[in-house]
Amino acid sequence: MARAGDIISYLEMCRIEGVNLQRGMNYRLHSDYSVILMSLRQGAPYADRVEENGKVLIYEGHDIPKTNANLNPKVIDQQAVNPSGTLTQNGLFFAAAIEFKSGKRQAELIKVYEKIHSGIWAYNGIFRLVDSWQELESARLNSGKKLSNPRKVFKFRLELTHSDIINEHAAKWKDIEHNRLIPASVKLEVWKRDKGKCVICGSANNLHFDHIIPYSRGGSSLTAANIQLLCARHNIAKRDKIE
Ligand SMILES: [Zn+2]
Repeated sequence: MARAGDIISYLEMCRIEGVNLQRGMNYRLHSDYSVILMSLRQGAPYADRVEENGKVLIYEGHDIPKTNANLNPKVIDQQAVNPSGTLTQNGLFFAAAIEFKSGKRQAELIKVYEKIHSGIWAYNGIFRLVDSWQELESARLNSGKKLSNPRKVFKFRLELTHSDIINEHAAKWKDIEHNRLIPASVKLEVWKRDKGKCVICGSANNLHFDHIIPYSRGGSSLTAANIQLLCARHNIAKRDKIE
């Protein structure tokens, strides 16, 4: 079982989820949770961001598919409904968030994986989907040039839970003081600095983004100076010493 902060290959990620993951948004990939893939690297297609010191992830919805009729999806409103009338992934996640807000259901649980490097993914943990809305953003041409007329995009507010397992506790979890998401830019900086290896033994297997000073003891998630790569063996050895 993956723990938040674990670094895994694409194949391991697919093995854990039992499917070949292709899409970014996967509502109810399994009977009790959804899966989202994200990428914050420069040039990544969507404007995801980390807020409130790493407690909250704001995930952007997805564009309509690129086709011959729609050569630039970035100038077109993101859609909640397919031409066939079924809900898009945006629509499915949006409806779940609105039902949660109106008290009709518990928060949808979402496992979030993040691409940090080619073939290298970080497992960011289990999040609760607590809100969704639409925003106007400036439409962009393929060249990156911004157009003056805005378009509508979906935003999803995901709160990190403290849980490693999907259960009722995770769905209701509110006190998230013990866990923080490490922003992608920090992950990438640490990955490069530590050269994709455990800083103690040099192993390149079963790596984990480790807080040098734990978050619960005041250590920051937001600076590479407090994050290092450790293999599973040295990560567990360190945790045992602290606890
Ligand atoms: Zn090691």
